Amino acid sequence: MARVYNFSAGPSMLPESVLQQAAEEIMDYHGSGQSVMEMSHRSKVYEPIIYGALDLFRKVLNVPDNYKILFLQGGASTQFAAIPLNFMNGSRKADYLLTGQFATKAWQEAGKYGEAKAVASSKADTYTHIPDHDPSMYTPDADYFYICMNNTIYGTRFTEETLPKTGNVPLIADVSSCFLSEPMDVSGYGVVYGGAQKNIAPAGLTVVIVREDLLGNARPETPTMLNYAIMAEKDSMYNTPPCWSIYMCKLVLEWIESIGGLEAMQARNVKKAGILYDFLDKSKLFIAPVLPRDRSMMNVVFRTGDEALDKKFIAEAAEAGFVNLKGHRTAGGMRASIYNAMPIEGVEKLAQFMEDFEKKNG
Ligand SMILES: *Cc1c(COP(=O)(O)O)cnc(C)c1O
Repeated sequence: MARVYNFSAGPSMLPESVLQQAAEEIMDYHGSGQSVMEMSHRSKVYEPIIYGALDLFRKVLNVPDNYKILFLQGGASTQFAAIPLNFMNGSRKADYLLTGQFATKAWQEAGKYGEAKAVASSKADTYTHIPDHDPSMYTPDADYFYICMNNTIYGTRFTEETLPKTGNVPLIADVSSCFLSEPMDVSGYGVVYGGAQKNIAPAGLTVVIVREDLLGNARPETPTMLNYAIMAEKDSMYNTPPCWSIYMCKLVLEWIESIGGLEAMQARNVKKAGILYDFLDKSKLFIAPVLPRDRSMMNVVFRTGDEALDKKFIAEAAEAGFVNLKGHRTAGGMRASIYNAMPIEGVEKLAQFMEDFEKKNG
């Protein structure tokens, strides 16, 4: 069996031990004579899976009691509409920081429902940094303030230093590509949410964590399936939830616990990102375009500056077992997505491969 190092931006690698456990349980889950894919979500055998996953999510991320955790579908992109529908319910104004494609899509969607203000944008610099912003630019009576925490395509992220200080205005963060990569103080947010397919589980599951006091005022036109209060009241089982992805999410959470929780995960991720950025900073061939302050720990963007050479690199890397290193079509160059499940060894070997490539082509 030859497994590749998969640097895809998503769906992405899952821990090998998790895949093995899923394989072992696929014909007969815990003596039930069926796989998790075949079970009724309302059965006695499935109940501990979904409630176990919800409880473990709360424990691993240290989610306060006054927050609901929802297991939804439709991907992060569906929440671009669900967020204004649920929360653009007072002044019908909201602030957005345009830090890349996903933040921009969310902002455009919100514009269908109310006054969505682009507080700042780094588009003119191809989103290679988090744009400057300060409270004098914010809308004081906004219903919420929206950010994309980690910008998957352009390889930037917010840190303590750059996070907007929004006071009483709830901060909403798309954390799709950095969920569970390090500890996070959920109490600083009104909502954090993300698709599971980057760091948590196979595609199909979207996790929304929402402060309880923000629920219950969805706009009247909100489709039932997008109404967070209804989903919370029904324990995410208003209809059939993404049963299999929730099961995989539980296994991944157990794996995170087994290696020491989010502090240990963070230490691993800091180390992995450090290996690549240290190499890039020394390299005379490769360029890392992102402002060092704003570098993502999950998506490392780089290029040679010569498109033909980039292409050669991507092809030779794939040949050597490092797949999906091509950058997003709007960013060009290369991108190594090094989510939780990417082993340290995979990153070390990639850095070595890059060094060898530089010697031959520099
Ligand atoms: C991948 C991604 C999305 C889109 O997720 P879907 O589940 O495909 O809708 C949105 N935001 C961020 C930050 C992402 O990385």
